[in-house]
Amino acid sequence: MLTERVWSGNSLRNFHYLIACGETGEALAVDPLEWRMCLEAAARRGWQITQILNTHEHTDHTGGNAGLKDATGATVAAHAAAAARIGGVDRGLTAGDVIRVGRTVELECLDTPGHTMAHICLLAHADPPALFSGDTLFNAGAGNCHNGGNPLALYTTFATQLARLPEQTLVYPGHEYLARNLEFTLDREPDNADAAQLLGTARHHDPATAVVTTLGREKLINTFFRLQNPQVIARLREKFPEIGERPDAQTVFVKLRELRNRW
Ligand SMILES: [Zn+2]
Ligand SMILES: [Zn+2]
Repeated sequence: MLTERVWSGNSLRNFHYLIACGETGEALAVDPLEWRMCLEAAARRGWQITQILNTHEHTDHTGGNAGLKDATGATVAAHAAAAARIGGVDRGLTAGDVIRVGRTVELECLDTPGHTMAHICLLAHADPPALFSGDTLFNAGAGNCHNGGNPLALYTTFATQLARLPEQTLVYPGHEYLARNLEFTLDREPDNADAAQLLGTARHHDPATAVVTTLGREKLINTFFRLQNPQVIARLREKFPEIGERPDAQTVFVKLRELRNRW
């Protein structure tokens, strides 16, 4: 499996991805909002975009479908429950579906509600594995739930699906928010040396060459994976004393998400 991350440079800080078969050159484009940039990136690599995958229905992920479809004839795949809202979807996806790209790439569809209730994360069974996480999991952060989402569902997705993936899984999110998210992690857990160290470089990095994290590293730097950390809980109790001394992980997650909304 070959992967190319395409940095949009737009104000929404979108990342797009091309996932290609090394044998055939066929490629899938993930959330290609700035579709011309994706087309140019594919041409540089000698790839042909034959499929488009939308992780979810928000227009900053689907807005490039029509242009890229016109230019390439690619088919569009998205969560079955998001297809009507997106329009022009050729293949509706459910949990466990497999998307094949060329002869060598297999991508498993994870049904990952929370940011919206019709969100797909793609898990590439490669060495190392890779997770294309849309707006569910960001580097050092979690998606918001403002536009059709639900924080309890997002917690369940994190706890029962994402946290159980192999530690070496590469994380490819839909937006570049690393520095801001690390600042939130450090606001919640000032003693987090891993987050502090990475923030030093993230503040000055070029998003086009930003670090690709692993799930194992996310568990160190992402407060939404650090729900039993004593400092996270102690500082959360200053804001929400009602959660008590031993809040469960779901309560901590939901309160962190609530704080992040206004932080
Ligand atoms: Zn979104
Ligand atoms: Zn988005």
